[in-house]
Amino acid sequence: MKARYSVIVPMFNEEEVIQHTYERLKKVMDGCGDSYELVFVNDGSRDRTAEIMREISSRDEHVKLVDFSRNFGHQVAITAGMDYAEGEAVVVIDADLQDPPEVILQMIAKWKEGYEVVYAKRLKRQGETLFKKATAKMFYRLLSSMTSVEIPTDTGDFRLIDRKVCDVLRGLKEKNRYVRGLVSWVGFRQTMVEYVREERFAGETKYPLKKMIRFALDGITSFSHKPLKIASYIGFFLSFSSFLYLFFVLFQKVFTSWTVPGWASIVGVNLLFNGIVLMLLGVIGEYIGRIYDESKDRPLYIVRETRGYGDAESGGENAGVRKDNDYAR
Ligand code: UDP
Ligand code: MG
Repeated sequence: MKARYSVIVPMFNEEEVIQHTYERLKKVMDGCGDSYELVFVNDGSRDRTAEIMREISSRDEHVKLVDFSRNFGHQVAITAGMDYAEGEAVVVIDADLQDPPEVILQMIAKWKEGYEVVYAKRLKRQGETLFKKATAKMFYRLLSSMTSVEIPTDTGDFRLIDRKVCDVLRGLKEKNRYVRGLVSWVGFRQTMVEYVREERFAGETKYPLKKMIRFALDGITSFSHKPLKIASYIGFFLSFSSFLYLFFVLFQKVFTSWTVPGWASIVGVNLLFNGIVLMLLGVIGEYIGRIYDESKDRPLYIVRETRGYGDAESGGENAGVRKDNDYAR
């Protein structure tokens, strides 16, 4: 029988927290009075996360495990969770207990009122570095100033979506995924609950600066063409001013007898303009790279094995791969 609620938990090297997360989630979901499943997606962890989860899933039939062949990234792990989740309402939550599982009950209440997307807005973020909070804040403001899709500020991927929304999202095949943007883009009746983001229970963040920048670029380039336009604005402005400057140079040459050594200005202007041109090429490159990713059309992720789907525990050649599912999507 299909569960009523699915909870998706992406995990990357979460051995220190995962047992605890499972127990707390279980407690909350046992209290919700309906059938549920916990879909844990192991995003190529290099520690004991998968082992621990395999063990848990063999004891608890609510627990499903989707094990990636390598690290594909947080957003892809969430996407996989949505592919495998069967519930009528699907919740996405971080593995590190920064998003308190108890909030899920509030989300479910809203869902029962008829909302199709319930996102959780962070009132406060505890135990995160000033740098993280400041950059996150800047990013959300920048993103919302750049795109026409209204992406709520200060929300993460902690949210509940209805089966309908989940199915629509599964149909969106873009490779550089920014899930929370996509959820806003699809529309439907959306509402929010507020919560205080807690400190990570254990371990450290799996989002180093490099991943954060990648994530921010995906968010912006997937939902805005403005950077491309900025490129052409700057280009236009610079060509126009150089044109004016050319007049000035010609005027000097013809009507005055100033002999300017000229070296410094030539080098200066060259450096400046080359820098700007390279920067703008970079902007265009970001988009072309993404077009390239789309055109290769590789699967978003590759699954090594799944647990908790039918004959999963028996092992064997096609162990645990859902019949209607390919290894790769
Ligand atoms: N995560 C993942 N793949 C990655 C990086 C992170 O599945 O490549 C998971 C991680 O295990 C956690 C969630 O994404 O459940 C959010 O990561 P984290 O808590 O490290 O990010 P932060 O809260 O610091 O932004
Ligand atoms: Mg976290």
